[in-house]
Amino acid sequence: MEIITDVAIMQQQAMALKKAGKSLGFVPTMGYLHEGHLKLVQQSVKQNQITVMSIFVNPLQFGPGEDFEAYPRDYDRDTALAEKAGVDLLFLPEHHDIFPNELSLAVKVNKRTNVLCGKSRPGHFDGVATILIKLFNLVMPDHVYFGLKDAQQVAVVDSLIADFNFPLTLHAVSTERDEDGVAKSSRNVYLSKKERIEAPHLYKSLKKAEQIIINGERNPQVIVQQIEAYLKKHTTGMIDYVEVLRFPDLTEMNELKGTMIIALAVKFSKARLIDNLLLDI
Ligand code: AMP
Repeated sequence: MEIITDVAIMQQQAMALKKAGKSLGFVPTMGYLHEGHLKLVQQSVKQNQITVMSIFVNPLQFGPGEDFEAYPRDYDRDTALAEKAGVDLLFLPEHHDIFPNELSLAVKVNKRTNVLCGKSRPGHFDGVATILIKLFNLVMPDHVYFGLKDAQQVAVVDSLIADFNFPLTLHAVSTERDEDGVAKSSRNVYLSKKERIEAPHLYKSLKKAEQIIINGERNPQVIVQQIEAYLKKHTTGMIDYVEVLRFPDLTEMNELKGTMIIALAVKFSKARLIDNLLLDI
């Protein structure tokens, strides 16, 4: 595995690989790798001759008072895991190399952001879109891999690729979970023992909601209320949001029909956890 820290070298290397006719798969991450990230790598390795992973904790997608400074980092461990998973090229850029100057123009995501995490984290997806435009131009991938754990991100990246004509294919990969159903997340290390015991109830509440819909309930409000009541009963976390929306448009539905996302976010003392479930009826 080759490690590249320099932005210009990354782009030269990508150009050389393209010239040599290699297909490039790309997995952008913020590091502190877990099996969720590695699942994306596995898929890329299967579908491409070269797999590039980036690790960059992007300050633009953190709001004031969020956990940018405290975000877990362990580059040595990540390097070993990436290599073992089959990453060919690990891109570890420095902040000053990615952002040598203050940006002179801004990216603003207009659609699919007034709900879910976009609503509770204003500017988050503008930051995500900005870094991805940079990374896509540096890595020049043919295929990009994103996790459905961050389903709103998948929806926004889908629009970004279409709106700006990036010549690449998006692959959405299903959420990797611990045995008890907790979605793998770099932030899980910040759960207290008690919170970790409560955490499986997030996914349980989604599965219960899914069952209620399968049994015939079509009113989204009823689903939201059921999930909220369940979470209040079984966790000490503070509910940030519970929403049922059309997917991938992320628009509201009066009656549940078609492809939908049931999504939630819960704030624990040091970690805000998100989870979701996609359902087609
Ligand atoms: P992050 O490092 O949190 O920015 O995540 C990098 C990529 O890994 C994103 O596309 C995430 O959606 C994806 N990812 C994170 N957690 C999981 C998971 N549990 N299962 C599948 N993909 C995941």
